[in-house]
Amino acid sequence: GVRAPAELATEGLTVRFGGLTALSEASVRIKPGEIHALIGPNGAGKSTFVNTISGFYSPTDGSFSLDGLPLAGHKPHQIARLGLGRTFQNTELFGELSVLENVMVGVEQRRHYGLPGALLRTPGFRREEVACRRAAIGLLAFVGLAEYANEAARFLPFGHQRRLEIARALAARPRLLLLDEPAAGLTTHEIDELEDMIRKIAALGVSVLLIEHHVDLIMAVADTVTVLDYGQIIASASPAVVQADPRVIEAYFGG
Ligand code: ADP
Ligand code: MG
Repeated sequence: GVRAPAELATEGLTVRFGGLTALSEASVRIKPGEIHALIGPNGAGKSTFVNTISGFYSPTDGSFSLDGLPLAGHKPHQIARLGLGRTFQNTELFGELSVLENVMVGVEQRRHYGLPGALLRTPGFRREEVACRRAAIGLLAFVGLAEYANEAARFLPFGHQRRLEIARALAARPRLLLLDEPAAGLTTHEIDELEDMIRKIAALGVSVLLIEHHVDLIMAVADTVTVLDYGQIIASASPAVVQADPRVIEAYFGG
């Protein structure tokens, strides 16, 4: 069903690694239901931003919140439970597990019956298991991988592995999904399919933060584009406005 998309806000978010400021006083608002792109040259701090709001890095300064709830000090799994899902810049699948099992790993995060239920195979546990399996199969169909359900994930072509990662992230029913360079290594045709998929994800009631290098993809799908350069936000506006911004053209589109 349709769910309530989440709003994420950061306020003066700063991340330093020793003497290097990877992210400098970044204040961003990802509005509920929007597709928000984060772009910038290599090393601009895009992954640092994603790793910080998902709880993998601790900010040096500043704050961030999901639907107004401050998240500082929360662990990645806690933030995930609050509704933030993500994929990684480098695909991280369980290669030996089947395609379906990889999605089940994502569904597990929202199961209620723990180990006792599993050991005793109580009716509640079994019902939930059936429901989870059904949900996972539905998600595989959503990303176009239903026919590969029982294959080992490592045998999937690269483009399919990326889609599987998205299905796994969706399995936890996020209200905000972070995609770190989902188009990297994809063919032109696969990027077109990804564009459709991102729109379908947003239509489910999920806010999307999209980190990308493919300008055509960003301009086609994004409602808002935020541009990072050397850890600083130099623009945050509609694609048309950002594309015409002289500072952005100089920093990003190569003058
Ligand atoms: P982007 O994703 O925009 O390419 P990153 O966020 O990965 O950029 O990196 C921003 C800067 O922070 C780079 O100079 C990078 O080397 C540095 N950096 C990122 N993560 C770490 C880390 N865990 N430890 C030290 N430096 C890091
Ligand atoms: Mg990166």
